[in-house]
Amino acid sequence: MKRRNTNSKVEVLSLLKSSNCALSHDMIQEKLSGSMDRATIYRVLNRFCEDKIVHKVVGDDGKQYFAFCINCAEKHKHNHFHFRCMKCGKVECLGNEVKVALPHGYVLNNFNGIVSGYCSECA
Ligand SMILES: [Zn+2]
Ligand SMILES: [Zn+2]
Ligand SMILES: [Zn+2]
Repeated sequence: MKRRNTNSKVEVLSLLKSSNCALSHDMIQEKLSGSMDRATIYRVLNRFCEDKIVHKVVGDDGKQYFAFCINCAEKHKHNHFHFRCMKCGKVECLGNEVKVALPHGYVLNNFNGIVSGYCSECA
């Protein structure tokens, strides 16, 4: 049992690592060709978020997308927009940081910015 668990983590992580865009549960399940059940994928993804190696964004389609963290060595902070292509459905992290002006004393924890449109391949 334990061993299977470890494998699921490794498989999901390598998928996210090798992907240059964020993936939804459905996409991950599809890429694993159904070898992992929804509950397991869900658990693994949430664990990665807690471990600060993956971040989550909710798309304008209401779905959750997960992306591998690149610059989170010191702090798990995500103040970048995500772009969702309305045609091919891919969700990408946009590199530029967004400055959010918060009232004095407030601390930013999560930024859920999503932009939708057509990617260069679909436009
Ligand atoms: Zn992160
Ligand atoms: Zn596209
Ligand atoms: Zn991102």
